[in-house]
Amino acid sequence: MRVQVAVIGAGLAGMSTAVQLLEAGHQVTLLEERPFVGGKVASWQNAQGDHLEMGLHVFFGCYENFFALIEKLGIRDHFLPKAHTHVFINQGGEQTSLDFRNFGGAPFHGLKAFVTTGQISTVDKLRNGLALVPLVKGLLNYDAALADIRAQDDVTFADWFRRHGGSQGSLTRLWNPIAYALGFIDTEHISARCMLTIFQIFAVKTDASKLNFLDGAPATRLHQPLVDYITDRGGVIKTSASVREIVSTGDRVEGLLLKSGEQIQADAYVSAAAADGIQRILPAHWRKHGIFDRIFQLKSVPVATVQLRFDGWVSDVDNLMYTADADFSCFADLALTSPKDYYVKGEGSLLQLVLTPGDPFMPMANDKVAEHTLAQVRRLLPSTHKHSLLRWNVVKLARSLYLEAPGMERNRPSQTTPIPNFFLAGSYTAQDYIDSMEGAVLSGKLCAQAVLASPVAHR
Ligand SMILES: Cc1cc2nc3c(=O)[nH]c(=O)nc-3n(C[C@H](O)[C@H](O)[C@H](O)COP(=O)(O)OP(=O)(O)OC[C@H]3O[C@@H](n4cnc5c(N)ncnc54)[C@H](O)[C@@H]3O)c2cc1C
Repeated sequence: MRVQVAVIGAGLAGMSTAVQLLEAGHQVTLLEERPFVGGKVASWQNAQGDHLEMGLHVFFGCYENFFALIEKLGIRDHFLPKAHTHVFINQGGEQTSLDFRNFGGAPFHGLKAFVTTGQISTVDKLRNGLALVPLVKGLLNYDAALADIRAQDDVTFADWFRRHGGSQGSLTRLWNPIAYALGFIDTEHISARCMLTIFQIFAVKTDASKLNFLDGAPATRLHQPLVDYITDRGGVIKTSASVREIVSTGDRVEGLLLKSGEQIQADAYVSAAAADGIQRILPAHWRKHGIFDRIFQLKSVPVATVQLRFDGWVSDVDNLMYTADADFSCFADLALTSPKDYYVKGEGSLLQLVLTPGDPFMPMANDKVAEHTLAQVRRLLPSTHKHSLLRWNVVKLARSLYLEAPGMERNRPSQTTPIPNFFLAGSYTAQDYIDSMEGAVLSGKLCAQAVLASPVAHR
């Protein structure tokens, strides 16, 4: 039978859920509170025509579910694979890298990258190798290794790494920028599970650590094709449609109440709002169920993203760049990486920089944030001294990723809930990828499977 499903939130998780359910022949209405879709990957144009983004997004080669979706949309050519290197920029412009190229497949390409990197000293490299020996298990039995890693959620990565012989030099110069880029927190705060999961995937799959960029802005190059795919199959997307209440007197959803006063009725309901979103609308009496109560343990971290447009080229790196020497942990020159919407004839580099941790920048005026970031960029990249800043933009997100701190894994809910007609999607829900685009798309797939396997779909 054809089931009507209402999905709260049109981020990647909500849209991924919708795609799967529509393909299975069901009807879907997506309700999105913002005026545009995309959630944390959203982008829009300001009055000057500049494309702004919620944040800098890179797509790892191991995003199997994400790229399967992209193949369906027929937009694989919107993604530009970059050289298989992870570039670090040190104070004064010194460039080092983890270079995975020209050395066969996993795990040898990774060993070569760590042995040859100039980012850490020889002693740090030896201790790094020693600390990461447990990853060898994944080469023999990947699933068992991932299960072991899931059990490493009560300790920070820094503590785990030191306990296994790793050095402070590696934490400071190599792993902190990567931890900040992955979870917006440093190695002293991020769960070992989070970092080790990624390392394990990188150690086993050759192209997993290879980065792709969208060739332009997400709104035009990713979300519009997704919206077309959904609406062509009869899906309905309502933007500026904020769900104020999940109406429920017992253990069943009776409907959704929008801020506008409109009521939405369906056979099944999915929340694809992020952790902070579901916390706002979850019926209080459902907290008697541990799965819902534990969601309130998930805190969200702030992040700020700054764009700086220069009148000339200040970088020639067509890839993501990490740094341990500034308040931004990673950045890219979008005019090079994503030229379709970001290259402007007659202008130069457009640096997009992610300030982590974002906390100190939340109360700061946007012009001060831009000024502070520019001063750090000028120290980091002497190439900027020859060029003037043309424009800047700052986007602040007070609640972005959930805090991937030790002990949080047990609070991530499954996609099936004790409420028979209510399901969860979202990158914060249980799946092996961290709070990421792959996690969001995978969670949507798992959620759709849960809906399809439930009695609501078989009445
Ligand atoms: C700055 C930044 C950089 C990032 N970089 C990367 C990266 O490089 N690679 C990567 O893989 N991941 C990255 N991420 C993470 C990635 O963006 C997220 O994990 C992913 O987009 C989450 O998708 P989601 O659909 O689960 O949640 P969201 O994108 O948060 O979507 C939830 C949607 O629900 C809507 N909503 C909430 N409440 C309601 C309501 N009551 N009614 C109606 N609608 C509601 C919201 O408006 C939102 O659109 C980054 C995130 C940020 C913030």
